[in-house]
Amino acid sequence: MTKVSQSKVHNMDYSKGERVVGSVVQGKVAVVTGGASGIGAAVVDLLRAEGAIVVAVDLAEANAPLTDQGGFLQMDVSDPASVEAGFEAVVAACGRIDVLVNSAGIAREQPFLDTPLDAFDRIIAVNLRGSFITGQAAARHMVANGGGSIINIGSVSGLLGNAGRSAYGASKGGVTTLSKVMAVDLAAQGVRVNVVAPGPVETPLVAQVHSAKTRADWGVRTPAGRYGTPEEIAAAVLFLASDQSSYVTGHVLTVDGGFMAQGLPAR
Ligand code: NAD
Repeated sequence: MTKVSQSKVHNMDYSKGERVVGSVVQGKVAVVTGGASGIGAAVVDLLRAEGAIVVAVDLAEANAPLTDQGGFLQMDVSDPASVEAGFEAVVAACGRIDVLVNSAGIAREQPFLDTPLDAFDRIIAVNLRGSFITGQAAARHMVANGGGSIINIGSVSGLLGNAGRSAYGASKGGVTTLSKVMAVDLAAQGVRVNVVAPGPVETPLVAQVHSAKTRADWGVRTPAGRYGTPEEIAAAVLFLASDQSSYVTGHVLTVDGGFMAQGLPAR
């Protein structure tokens, strides 16, 4: 018989028919990189509202130490020493890591021939190499603790060739494939790895990177006819963070107003 929990507990085993009614991440310990802005900040807010213990990670300095209820932590995801120390601090304060959301990212829009090599290297270092470094650090703790869920924020620009995005598109394409390999390598140890691939979303990053022409182009190309909100991306992350998605791994969930589905535009 299906065991249904009305009480808010974490780590129900959906594979045994158990399920939770109510909050689906209550008590889980989640680390969210890029948690100070945009999509990451919306994920932090939603997971906290759903009862998770959340550590938001970003480049800015923390103004208070972590507690067993989470908090904010300074970390540069492109720096292995910073990541290693940060994850040790999370485990020391919160006891374990159940969820990692990689939302830290940088972007640039520039024609291929004008893209400097150092700009390419920096975008790969943060978006792709950073996801490898944090993923490895988190997965080591998760494996030792019986499992967990890693959600990497990819992009529709990692799934097809959007103009002017050689570095960014390559980094996000890499994140997509890295996530699939991680999902395969870690499945037996109970760690799930998935990608949420947003279309255009109103955030400080987009305000900085999208020109008026880019906005017009995305508007025509996106069937929903608008940019998404960070909260709409966070809702998809919540599902993948929770045990409700216990049989979902290696998946790329586009949250893009139909961007990837469109052939000829609607008339
Ligand atoms: P944002 O700029 O609002 O937030 C990104 C955060 O990452 C910032 O707070 C920044 O300080 C942090 N960050 C940057 N480099 C870091 C580093 N080395 N270490 C730790 N933190 C670092 O951007 P956003 O739009 O919310 O983007 C979040 C993620 O979503 C990114 O990976 C981005 O590529 C992806 N994405 C965004 C969109 C969009 O339209 N906004 C679309 C697809 C994918």
